[in-house]
Amino acid sequence: MKMSDCVFCQIAQREIPSEIAYEDDEIIAFKDIQPLAPVHLVVIPKIHLRSLNDVTSEQETLIGHLFGVMRRLASEFGVAESGYRVVTNTGTDGGQVVGHLHFHLLGGQALNAKIG
Ligand code: AMP
Ligand code: ZN
Repeated sequence: MKMSDCVFCQIAQREIPSEIAYEDDEIIAFKDIQPLAPVHLVVIPKIHLRSLNDVTSEQETLIGHLFGVMRRLASEFGVAESGYRVVTNTGTDGGQVVGHLHFHLLGGQALNAKIG
């Protein structure tokens, strides 16, 4: 797939609209269009990595930064104390639909205890 066809690259480049919760040079976070919980953010690196499988040691600083952003967003969206879940679906069996590395941040209600 060309990056120009990637919906999350298009969001990062503001080519399609989204409700942006956070943005810096490397990362953008936006509200999921089909929320599964009262708080459901999608947090992505702006560079096109297809999944966690594409992450190399070169991106460790970026991924660490991304987790720091998610921790702050959890606090900002009022779920840090009540609890939340971070999920990255990877590949077919992982249920990944959009082929651009992304992390779901879910909270605001008691989430299904079952993960798998
Ligand atoms: P995944 O199954 O992990 O690939 O999840 C992809 C997520 O992206 C789903 O939760 C979708 O609802 C969400 N999504 C897809 N398109 C958009 C969009 N244009 N704006 C916001 N969220 C989107
Ligand atoms: Zn992309």
